[in-house]
Amino acid sequence: MNKFDIIIIGSGLGGLLCGYILSKEGYHVCILEKQAQAGGNLQTFSRHGHKFETGVHYLGALGPGQTLNRYWKYFGLTESIDFQQLDPDCFDRVIFGDEEFPLAQGFENFTDQLLPLFPGAKASLNRYVREIHEITSAFPLYNLELPVDHREHHFTTQSACGFIADVTSGIRNPGSNVSLSAVLSGNNYLYGGSRLTPLHVASLISHSFISGAYRIIGGSDRITQILQDAIISHGGSIIKKQAVTAIGQLQQKFTITTGTGQVFHSEKVVSNIHPATTLSMMPADIVRPAYQKRIVSLQNTISSFILFLSVKPGSFPYLNYNYYYHTAHDPWDETTAPDSKWPRMFLLSTGCHKPSQQYAETVTILTYMRFDDVSQWNHTSVGKRGPEYHDFKNKKAEKLLEVVYAKFPGLKPAIENIEISTPLTYRDYTGIPEGSLYGIQKNFHEPLLTNVMPKTKIPNFYFTGQNTNLHGVLGVTIGSVVTCGEILGLEYILKKIQNA
Ligand SMILES: Cc1cc2nc3c(=O)[nH]c(=O)nc-3n(C[C@H](O)[C@H](O)[C@H](O)COP(=O)(O)OP(=O)(O)OC[C@H]3O[C@@H](n4cnc5c(N)ncnc54)[C@H](O)[C@@H]3O)c2cc1C
Repeated sequence: MNKFDIIIIGSGLGGLLCGYILSKEGYHVCILEKQAQAGGNLQTFSRHGHKFETGVHYLGALGPGQTLNRYWKYFGLTESIDFQQLDPDCFDRVIFGDEEFPLAQGFENFTDQLLPLFPGAKASLNRYVREIHEITSAFPLYNLELPVDHREHHFTTQSACGFIADVTSGIRNPGSNVSLSAVLSGNNYLYGGSRLTPLHVASLISHSFISGAYRIIGGSDRITQILQDAIISHGGSIIKKQAVTAIGQLQQKFTITTGTGQVFHSEKVVSNIHPATTLSMMPADIVRPAYQKRIVSLQNTISSFILFLSVKPGSFPYLNYNYYYHTAHDPWDETTAPDSKWPRMFLLSTGCHKPSQQYAETVTILTYMRFDDVSQWNHTSVGKRGPEYHDFKNKKAEKLLEVVYAKFPGLKPAIENIEISTPLTYRDYTGIPEGSLYGIQKNFHEPLLTNVMPKTKIPNFYFTGQNTNLHGVLGVTIGSVVTCGEILGLEYILKKIQNA
């Protein structure tokens, strides 16, 4: 009963998409998930009748004919989910003090909306747009095409931060002195705000959102539901509350042991969980110590501190854009700022619960937090962290809200209830080490070292998810196709997706 062709460890987006492809192709697939709810970062939760997103606030390249839209057609997601397009003239509003700057959808519109605020920046903005087009074209899978050369390497060794500074050199808003560089980096929370971020990571993400930025109406758990149902209808299974604890090998077959003591067998394994966690479950006769050491040594992206607010009916507007507020003028210094300056930024996003919503039901406020800040509660679990932890969370929430209320005074009286998450919350609900926002930190100084390949040095063992290709919903979608391409042939599966 516990024998399968392929076992997938973890039911995050990457695990579910691989489960979909492989079960559709006739493999007998089983997904083992640690939590009671599948989806990883796609999970939602409800409080006082309000539903909250945990790891998907908006999606890029979802317009007709765009990348995610085309990939998701194959998975049956495009037509089964309702989406709300964000404001075409401003999907992200970047704020420094009292100065607000729109990031718009459509490449011409993107330039047109910024030009009045940065007169004389036409050449720079045109160059920015031209170069991010060129960079994305070096990644053929972004356009559902087979990779033919290695042009992408040129961009993996450059820094996103350096590129933006170079393109915009010296250009400032005449009224506020805010630089164009700061504005174009203003939503760098999307890739963890690190100066180590390679150029291609920032460019692929920015390109996707400028192409078309959307919210899911009703919650990202809809993605999980559709994929789960499809996998089961293809003959696959998803078994929850089965935390994988050991991975062994017996006569060329994998033996996967879970916390309940059950043992599962398969010919192939796809791991959707962090590579360091995965390799730590394997004995030395399966994984070479040098490979394990390399993966375990990789740094992760920073974590987050998040407030989930329920608001009174009709009391706070639904904002059809995301609000990136910065207390200082350099978005690249925010993750390393001293504690006394916390919080250096916040991202405010209103949940999308129905079409043409006028008022917000939920507001989510995100900022960075280092795992070190909560490491004294490292050995505690959800709901059992003690009064000091609650005190810590509440004090941090007050401090963050002070900054938020200065910008949104109307929010304070509108709040009905507040839920708070820290790096420990994300660690314990998604299994990601240190509650990291996006997994392994890609580093332009060491692109090969920090890019974990889906095909491992262990025959028939693969990785998928945000730690392999690129994080985010689009990155994980493309990555799942690359992982399955290692098993089925990339050309074969890509053709099916192109023709869907
Ligand atoms: C706060 C936040 C906001 C974000 N906002 C956006 C956004 O607006 N747009 C966007 O595109 N992306 C966003 N992202 C990123 C995006 O959500 C992730 O990159 C993506 O969902 C990761 O998918 P994954 O396949 O890597 O799996 P994960 O989501 O990491 O899931 C891994 C799964 O494995 C399970 N697991 C772990 N250990 C074990 C074990 N031992 N045994 C069995 N199962 C195990 C976990 O329980 C989990 O279900 C955000 C992320 C965060 C944290």
